[in-house]
Amino acid sequence: MPRAGLEPAILSAGDFKSPVYTNSTTEAHAYCTNFYMEYNQYMKIGVLALQGSFVEHVQLIEKLGLHVTEVRTAAALSSVTHLIIPGGESTTMRKLAEQFNLWNQLMKRVTDDSIQLFGTCAGAILMSQLNMPFSVERNAYGAQTMSCVVSLKSNISDLRGCFIRAPKITKIAPDVQVLARHKFDPVCIRWRGHMALTFHPELIHEMRLHELFLGL
Ligand code: GLN
Repeated sequence: MPRAGLEPAILSAGDFKSPVYTNSTTEAHAYCTNFYMEYNQYMKIGVLALQGSFVEHVQLIEKLGLHVTEVRTAAALSSVTHLIIPGGESTTMRKLAEQFNLWNQLMKRVTDDSIQLFGTCAGAILMSQLNMPFSVERNAYGAQTMSCVVSLKSNISDLRGCFIRAPKITKIAPDVQVLARHKFDPVCIRWRGHMALTFHPELIHEMRLHELFLGL
């Protein structure tokens, strides 16, 4: 299966010039909408729907006007080119993914580069366990009661992140791109066609990171 990444080089490594990065959200949105209309035929978007905030991701993708599959079976997983792994509880989600025969397929598809992943919080933890080139420390920002929404440093204007028992990204490979930071910590990273976020855009109706992912 060809890599889910699409032919036109909208983004090249180290050169992040997507219109999403302009100051105009409307312009960015128009760009993304055209982009989807042109290329949606090649993409099949899934959300891992075993546990956690999968409903919010499904709603967000539907709000973008795109079709989305809830992935709970190996057959559903094999039909998608893009998979969103939600926040939740990473140990539970991994156990369920193993039980539902999804984990090995995921590992294989990451290795042969036939799927693009977008993980939020627990999803980012699972991505690090799928041998993506970054490491995380779980629950590094404290307990549930320390949950917060904060402004992030990013080229994306007014980007905020909702952190709930979030992991910290502790190590990244040189070819991993940092798209947003909280203080000095990378909190949104991109590697090839994948994105990992330690926070929850889906809980505060932030759609631009999903759009960015779908354009990679
Ligand atoms: N603390 C959770 C874990 O380690 C992640 C929390 C979240 O996804 N909001 O799995």
